[in-house]
Amino acid sequence: MQFKDIIGQDYLKEMLVKAVDSGRISHAQLFSGESGYGVLPLAIAYAQYINCTAKSNGDSCGSCPSCIKMKDLVHPDIHFVFPVNSAEKSSANKATSVNFLPQWRSIIKKSGGYFTEQDWYDKIEIGNKQGMISRLEADEIIKTLSFKSFEAEYKVMFIWMPEKMNIAASNALLKLLEEPWDKTLFLLISSSSSKLLKTINSRAQEIAVPRIDDSAIIANLKLCGVSSSRVEEIAHISCGNIIRAKESSKFGDNSSEGENFELFTQLMRHSYNDKHMELLEWAEVVAALGREEKRSFFSYSIRLLRESYMMNAGLSSITYLYGEERAFCNKFSPFIGNHNIENLVTELELARAQIAQNGNPKMIMAHMALVISKQIVKK
Ligand SMILES: [Zn+2]
Repeated sequence: MQFKDIIGQDYLKEMLVKAVDSGRISHAQLFSGESGYGVLPLAIAYAQYINCTAKSNGDSCGSCPSCIKMKDLVHPDIHFVFPVNSAEKSSANKATSVNFLPQWRSIIKKSGGYFTEQDWYDKIEIGNKQGMISRLEADEIIKTLSFKSFEAEYKVMFIWMPEKMNIAASNALLKLLEEPWDKTLFLLISSSSSKLLKTINSRAQEIAVPRIDDSAIIANLKLCGVSSSRVEEIAHISCGNIIRAKESSKFGDNSSEGENFELFTQLMRHSYNDKHMELLEWAEVVAALGREEKRSFFSYSIRLLRESYMMNAGLSSITYLYGEERAFCNKFSPFIGNHNIENLVTELELARAQIAQNGNPKMIMAHMALVISKQIVKK
């Protein structure tokens, strides 16, 4: 992965390049930010740049032996650790990242490194379990790094989602993070660095990755064939997160939208009227939908809430709404504002994550409907 493959983030790329060129490479660095800002691909491009033998114009060359191995994620001196688990009970404690490398390479190749933690759990099919980085994994890290590097100047250990390390794993790594071996780099990539143990956090230099500029998101959506009449609005509602932008761009020609529209308006009407029995019945209906249908409902509802919020903020000229959607959101938007938009979206995202982790759909949907109804208040 080269810097040129990274969406936006020009300032940060320049900063990283300058640091490497002037020999300032800190041995433990924490890249933090939402997955959709491109935190992982940025860190990979950075490692590739460090070990490239023919750097030029602020980027790796893409064709030296080191770059070629980096491209396929098979460089013998580059190691990846990430949360894993096993769907089978008995082997849960034995699973380490190395068992999942084929899936890891595949998801990075397919997404360019732009994927969420949940996408990863779906990829490795761990059902309703959480991924974690175990003590055994930490021992493996120490063992791996104790070997001399094969060919590169720097050995690099990526730890993706280090907040998933349990205490035993964190403690096992502390010493190494504090007194690293020569020419060994730790790149921690976190989407919620506040959850990291303080002892880990304080030993790494943090590189806060900001949201992607709207202009870079727009250019990328256009490249992906999204109609130019929609790109600005999608960029606007995705808040600098390209994963969210790509998801929003899928809408517009989806035949399931009629059904999603029905369900969304029912949820909002019952909430507005405080009809608890109806909300629970509604929850039963949605709980019975298929997995994909539920996923689609969540994305749809989040989109309509954001659109309504923009309408309320007086930005109706740039909302992407037509026909009955526009008519409904026009009436509904006064009830969506700064006081509740984040809570509403968070609640939907939480329910989506819980469903994806195979939680009980009836309970999750009923809880969500009741929480949402408290957020939609008659004026
Ligand atoms: Zn190169």
